[in-house]
Amino acid sequence: MHRRRRTRLMRNMKGRAQGYTYSREGHPNAEVLAGRIDAMEGTTGGIVTSSGMAAVTAALMGVLSAGDHVIGGDQLYGRSLRLMKEDLPRLGYFNAAITPATKMVLIEVVSNPTLRVADVTGIAALCKARGVLLVVDNTFTTPRAIRPFEHGADIVLHSVTKLMAGHSDVMLGWVAAKDETLRKKMYDFVVTTGMTPSPFDCWLAERGMMSFDLRFDRAQQTARVLADHLGAQKGVTKVLYPTNASHPDHNRATALLGDQGCNMVSFEIPGGRASTNAFTQAAQGIAFAPTLGDVGTTLSHPASSSHRALTVEERAEIGISEGFFRVSVGLEDPDALCDVFDQGLAAAADAS
Ligand SMILES: *Cc1c(COP(=O)(O)O)cnc(C)c1O
Repeated sequence: MHRRRRTRLMRNMKGRAQGYTYSREGHPNAEVLAGRIDAMEGTTGGIVTSSGMAAVTAALMGVLSAGDHVIGGDQLYGRSLRLMKEDLPRLGYFNAAITPATKMVLIEVVSNPTLRVADVTGIAALCKARGVLLVVDNTFTTPRAIRPFEHGADIVLHSVTKLMAGHSDVMLGWVAAKDETLRKKMYDFVVTTGMTPSPFDCWLAERGMMSFDLRFDRAQQTARVLADHLGAQKGVTKVLYPTNASHPDHNRATALLGDQGCNMVSFEIPGGRASTNAFTQAAQGIAFAPTLGDVGTTLSHPASSSHRALTVEERAEIGISEGFFRVSVGLEDPDALCDVFDQGLAAAADAS
């Protein structure tokens, strides 16, 4: 190795100079991507991780210690729930209602798939009063709709896989803390456990993010059109869209998000599995897929996919019936998209 380069490397390793030594610890592509998301969320020092779940894991396991209590929203992303219910207890963390040992609360602003809106302001005030860290997963809402640090969050995270990167071709996460000690704990955990992002994925995500605002606004606009359209159809028993007057958390949604209802719409049709199968098959060109935030609209059926492990009663309790669908609205022409949903509804009606 060239002498001068070797000298610089030695200084980097000793932390005396800025630079890159080994890509598990950081690389230029991750840094550029982190900087973009930092700017959107109004923070600095964000860490890009290999997936959204790596970001969730860094926030929880990088910060908590054995014996700590942690509270999670009851409608979190499935894997986050599983991490809290199964893995954390196995490692000696507790999942309990708020106690003196409670260290952390993890919430999502808009829940999946029933699109309930969390009382972020109230929860943040409670956490602050009790000295509890508030972690907000901002994947569904994105900084276009809400910047959780401005509402009292201590840690904010994203599955960049979804709307941010936007093309269903990468897996990435991002996690940031206002407090430097917290940030360092998460960074060390990410580097030690190897939850490092691929440079190529970071580059793809950076490209994707150049159109983020345009994609988000267009998808949101179409989501509103689709929600209104579905609400006017006879074969639809329920439509959920956060900023619509009929939504159970409409007031809270408007207070937190303004008119940014985002790109997710959930709805319900009557009938059993035959009807839902008929709908899915007739909705030509709409990918039946659990992901969200892609340029193309995707349809998911929680009763047979994300929430199949629950009993019928447990699903009913959170409002998920057999005929319940979740839609991640993409960039298609709004009228054409509504037509495809009409075809699905007609087929579902015939099958019931
Ligand atoms: C997808 C998702 C995750 C997990 O992200 P991955 O990139 O799939 O690991 C976490 N939280 C929410 C809200 C998500 O939608």
